[in-house]
Amino acid sequence: MSDLVRNFIGGQWVEGSGGVYASINPATEETVADISSASPADVDAAVKAAKEAYKEWRLMPAPRRGEILYRVAQLLTERKDDIARIATQEMGKILAETRGDVQEAIDMAFYMAGEGRRLFGYTAPVEMPNKFGMALRDSVGVVGVITPWNFPVAVPSWKILPALIAGNTIVFKPGEDTAATGAAFVKVFEDAGLPPGVLNIVQGAGVPGEALVTHPGVRIISFTGSTLTGLAVYSKAASLGKKVTLEMGGKNAIIVLDDANLQLAVDAITWSAYGTTGQRCTACSRLIIQKGIKPKLMEALIEKARSIKIGYGLEDAVQMGPLVNQRALEKVASYMSVARNEGVKIVAGGERPNMDKGFFFEPTLFDGVTPNMRVAQEEIFGPVLSAIEVGSLEEAVEVNNNTPYGLSSSIFTENVNAAFRAIRDLSTGIVYINHGTTGAEIQFPFGGTRGTGNGMREAGQAGLDSFTEWKSVYVDYSGRLQRAQIDNEDILGKLE
Ligand code: NAD
Repeated sequence: MSDLVRNFIGGQWVEGSGGVYASINPATEETVADISSASPADVDAAVKAAKEAYKEWRLMPAPRRGEILYRVAQLLTERKDDIARIATQEMGKILAETRGDVQEAIDMAFYMAGEGRRLFGYTAPVEMPNKFGMALRDSVGVVGVITPWNFPVAVPSWKILPALIAGNTIVFKPGEDTAATGAAFVKVFEDAGLPPGVLNIVQGAGVPGEALVTHPGVRIISFTGSTLTGLAVYSKAASLGKKVTLEMGGKNAIIVLDDANLQLAVDAITWSAYGTTGQRCTACSRLIIQKGIKPKLMEALIEKARSIKIGYGLEDAVQMGPLVNQRALEKVASYMSVARNEGVKIVAGGERPNMDKGFFFEPTLFDGVTPNMRVAQEEIFGPVLSAIEVGSLEEAVEVNNNTPYGLSSSIFTENVNAAFRAIRDLSTGIVYINHGTTGAEIQFPFGGTRGTGNGMREAGQAGLDSFTEWKSVYVDYSGRLQRAQIDNEDILGKLE
């Protein structure tokens, strides 16, 4: 990796004028790379480059655009390990997880490459003879992509790839903690032959982010991050008439009913709660347990939580890395006193492990949590799981739905009737049966209800809605003004 990570604007890797900061390895606290931040002037240059490139890119036939994305998929496959290593160094999750992160981008690249020969619109019968009607997906223009650090390759790919195949151009601002990973991802597009200016990257935190959100040349903002930042971005962008897609926080739950397969549930809960150090938007942070199975389940989970090997994600056998930075560590640690003050029992973890360096925190399990406590309502974003006891499926569903967020939920049961009732009644964007809360596939819509989003979805066909506008086309091939247009009042009324 080069010493200084630059911005990619109009096909050139250039230094920004927003200063330089260090991207820190959260396991070793060493500098991974120095990052050259973009100023608002650099963001302006990137938007101008994207606007210029849009003129040609929108006209390139979508199957040709798809061929470039296919090369992106191939190059990502070749560089999977290298990019994953950079991501582990920058944000801390273990190599198996960062490889999975890159794999999601590979899947999305192949999927969207194929979309180059679909991008389906539709036709429908029309009211007049000798007339034809169709609805087409049209590109929109320059898209501002703002992403977090926790899935530094997958999340940008869910936005960049559908936006590109639809004919838009992009200015991408990655999370400031994963700037080098973002640059390595963009380099793949450059090497795959994407024309200059079609995809630009600007580095830094809130300043370039805000410049992108408020830039008049940006037509769409696609944001993933915290609810606090997302809502601020939403109000600014909306007041400027921009289209906005928001993917924000979560407080996801797994329900375990008395008849569940215990071993299956234990494994899934452990991975969902402590995988990626609990820093996935779909991480399970609430465990809603029916009374009968609770003692056995808690016993098994305590044992599992205590057995997890914590360490540097590039080392073999490590199962859980550090939190992303000092701020995140302080936030997670602060919830231990919140829990104690609320009368919660910390039955596993609750401390920083004894390690020389790094922002590590033990896998933590809370018992005796009630649904309205802060620890059951607020996104802690760390390896912290709150156990809530319930008496019935109905109560479990009510507890599940009672948070400001609505991303992912899951139920473990062997009863098919209970499973289908849960599918009907769990009010989250994603529902799993006998599976943890994580593991979404790119061909299905991804996103959440309530405070998690604004009704839009990423991935699958639904993901194209964020980056296209419908254009309805009417073709009159009668060669004359049709009498019916004049005579028929029903139709006349519609001539607007
Ligand atoms: P964050 O909100 O702090 O930052 C997200 C992005 O916004 C970063 O690129 C940041 O630099 C940028 N930003 C900060 N201030 C800005 C401003 N004023 N204007 C424009 N951009 C600005 O979030 P984070 O800590 O990077 O990520 C963690 C959060 O992301 C969690 O809440 C998690 O649940 C959420 N997340 C959600 C999903 C999802 O799909 N729902 C996926 C991954 C992460």
